[in-house]
Amino acid sequence: MCGIFGVYAPGRMVAHLTYLGLYALQHRGQESAGMAVSNLEDVMVVKEMGLVSNVFDDRALTSLPGDIAIGQTRYSTTGHSQWRNAQPIYRGVGDLQFALGHNGNLVNTGELADEAGMLPGTVASDSDLVGELVARELFGESSETDNPLLSAMQVILPKLKGAFCFSVMDQTQIIGVRDPNGFRPLALGRLDDGGWVLASENPAFDVVGATFVRELDPGEMVIIDEQGVTSLRPFDEESVDPKLCIFEYVYFARPDTKLYGQNVHQARVRMGAALAEQAPVDADLVMGVPESGIPAAEGFAKQSGITFGHGLVKNRYIGRTFIAPSQELRALGVRMKLNPLRENIAGKRLVVVDDSIVRGTTTKAMVAMLREAGATEVHLRISSPPYRWPCFYGMDTGTRSELLAANLTVDEIREYIGCDSISYLGLEALHEATGAINAGFCDACLTGNYPIDIPVNLSKNVLEAGEERHQESTLATAISSTISPTASVENPTQPTEASS
Ligand code: SF4
Repeated sequence: MCGIFGVYAPGRMVAHLTYLGLYALQHRGQESAGMAVSNLEDVMVVKEMGLVSNVFDDRALTSLPGDIAIGQTRYSTTGHSQWRNAQPIYRGVGDLQFALGHNGNLVNTGELADEAGMLPGTVASDSDLVGELVARELFGESSETDNPLLSAMQVILPKLKGAFCFSVMDQTQIIGVRDPNGFRPLALGRLDDGGWVLASENPAFDVVGATFVRELDPGEMVIIDEQGVTSLRPFDEESVDPKLCIFEYVYFARPDTKLYGQNVHQARVRMGAALAEQAPVDADLVMGVPESGIPAAEGFAKQSGITFGHGLVKNRYIGRTFIAPSQELRALGVRMKLNPLRENIAGKRLVVVDDSIVRGTTTKAMVAMLREAGATEVHLRISSPPYRWPCFYGMDTGTRSELLAANLTVDEIREYIGCDSISYLGLEALHEATGAINAGFCDACLTGNYPIDIPVNLSKNVLEAGEERHQESTLATAISSTISPTASVENPTQPTEASS
């Protein structure tokens, strides 16, 4: 996850524009927020733990005059949730000052740190590592070129493995990069007066008055400077293999975002309609779990002819629960997040549509809440297949032991959650519902087919671990069992359901 943003607009209030852009990307990361602003001579960075609106106020933004800016909202994967890991990352090398915002997660962080001879503690996150590698490169031959930052990036980028979109700037330019698999989205927009904007998702363009130009291709780099936009391909052609995270459609992205040219809201509606065809049920009301389950519920209701309504009210000011970095905070988040709408659900047989079940914490509590509020039956319909494998490309799901569907059969899940029936959308139907079936997707958390090999020593604290990363740990065992060809998996391409 994480949201990244960049704006090249000499003469405009770029700090304010970046604030608005980050605000529109807040759903992608809620642990810290920051921005770097250049007045063409110096780069200044402000970052802090918390939401965008907690970190910046008008006074802070007014004190950041400039012409170019980048920003980031963070959701931690490699490297803990702490101030040191807030972004943008900053380095100064001679006269050159640069800042970097990252969305994604590298899978060769430990290897790169070893190769560069970094002692434990030199850097604290994969993004910090990239900043350090680029800075070291700037002491070498890259410093002799016309564009040292670009040259250094071109040396470092092909060495990175995993998921990465970057928004990087120095005093006079912004460089945007999307990895060769394009795991995470990145789009280019244009301001009316000729400025340019980069953002993880296109709704960030609307709030700053920019128009959507296009999505960056997997493996593409754009340089935005006084010449306009220049597109480069810094990676080997063979490494370019589109694998956009299918969960961007299911859950992560905003409903008004376009991915592979398809509107996410419409894709979610199609997922719900496919689910209604695949797993019909007699019921009085179809309701969605706010917010990302609602479009799929709409599609289910339309397809099934059952009335659509609301059964849960979400406290809009609580963060997404599985994004919170600790189990304790997650559990607290569930209780604070949803409240039943008793008048709508008492005495009714409910179809409850949700986008996914990862750990099951929220779902179990929610089903109990609906029953307490008087629902006579609760039939769960999930608009994605069972989530059985950990993600290493930008979502912190922990180990397999924490994933409900990796440890229980669908019938056991129904029993654990306490619902009357449960059904998951089949994998093929999910791909079809995106509207971009042949565009290329990562679905590793649903199938175990990882597009990039995962080293056995990968963990959130791989950089802090130092010497320990060479020893097999409990986590390493958990991951190696994940990628073992002998690991047992139910056929993930088949729809799965259970009822009491
Ligand atoms: S493993 Fe799942 S969540 Fe992670 S990038 Fe792939 S599809 Fe997305």
